[in-house]
Amino acid sequence: MVDYIIVGCGLAGISFAEQALNNDKTIAVFDNDSQKSSLIAGGLYNPVILKRFSEVWKAEEQLVEMKEFYKKLEAKLASQFDFPKPILRKFFSIEEQNNWFAASDKKGLAPFLSPVLITKKYSGITSAYNYGEVLHTGYVDTELLLFSYRKYLESINSIRYESFDYGALLLESDTISYKGIVAKHIVFAEGFGIHQNPFFGYLPVDGTKGELFIIESDELDLNVILNTSVFILPLGWNRYKVGATYNWKDKTDLPTEEGKQELLERIREIIDCDFKIVAHFAGVRPTVYDRRPLIGTHFDYNNMHVLNGLGTRGVMLGPAMAKELFDKIENGKIIDKEININRVKPKNYRY
Ligand SMILES: Cc1cc2nc3c(=O)[nH]c(=O)nc-3n(C[C@H](O)[C@H](O)[C@H](O)COP(=O)(O)OP(=O)(O)OC[C@H]3O[C@@H](n4cnc5c(N)ncnc54)[C@H](O)[C@@H]3O)c2cc1C
Repeated sequence: MVDYIIVGCGLAGISFAEQALNNDKTIAVFDNDSQKSSLIAGGLYNPVILKRFSEVWKAEEQLVEMKEFYKKLEAKLASQFDFPKPILRKFFSIEEQNNWFAASDKKGLAPFLSPVLITKKYSGITSAYNYGEVLHTGYVDTELLLFSYRKYLESINSIRYESFDYGALLLESDTISYKGIVAKHIVFAEGFGIHQNPFFGYLPVDGTKGELFIIESDELDLNVILNTSVFILPLGWNRYKVGATYNWKDKTDLPTEEGKQELLERIREIIDCDFKIVAHFAGVRPTVYDRRPLIGTHFDYNNMHVLNGLGTRGVMLGPAMAKELFDKIENGKIIDKEININRVKPKNYRY
């Protein structure tokens, strides 16, 4: 008997698994490597939506939760996952500079937007109008996180690498049985793979494909994250992760020529030195029309739950959303209606 079966071992599944283990619960995790979003993500965390100069929804709370989550996990797995690093916004005009300084004065944004103009020069980048700096930012090495966490789950005999067979689930009033495992609860965290799920497949996870590159350049010298129409994230050894595109039509995780050309065009707007593409990845973000996560309990089965819709911000949202769901299940806490799956009714719902 385990407390939780967890389907999916991306950022959502890992966040929930840790929440459960930290509270002395037992788990059995399933993953079939069918989705790549967490594996290939940029991993950036940034409390400000720079395009619109607005604060990310509940950014301060999420940052606190996230920092604590990764710190604990780093100690447990003796590895670094969270790499705090400044994010710089390159300005293309005096007007952009002015907009920045006006925004840095606003109440919600003041803690996150530095009012100091960054005039430092970086080799390989021309920047006549300099940069603005976002505070409390960085990135999580999601590839290392996934790899390390799965190894850890293997070491405690708590993960199986196989497709979850929804038809083999036996639901009873107090327990769930699945191929010999009896559990008190099941949490589905399949990312865009949710559409195979007969219980939660109705949820509006529309999916936004993203492509990114690893590039190499010995002329580029950047020790901060640059974020304009794409981000450039230094990985060391002259390598940089660059991304990402947004495609709402294609739902595959295959890199495309169209994505490649778009990224190349954007990179050339920012840097003016030679580089070569070392790798090209793609994945589908589990995005939702109202840009809010989807968490909650099935309307017919009170021991069946979902943690999805982390969209473009799984790194910051994952730990806070996992806590919210865990507190609901174990302590009866009411889930904020903005993120509760109850805001979406399935077509055949009995009103
Ligand atoms: C190009 C790109 C760049 C991004 N950059 C950032 C960024 O900089 N910062 C940020 O915070 N976020 C970023 N994201 C978004 C972030 O990756 C997502 O928010 C996050 O990965 C979602 O995590 P998840 O666990 O919900 O889904 P996923 O990562 O898709 O994980 C779901 C898991 O469930 C498994 N699964 C699915 N169905 C089944 C089944 N039937 N049986 C067994 N296992 C199953 C899959 O194999 C997968 O491992 C980016 C995404 C992309 C694509």
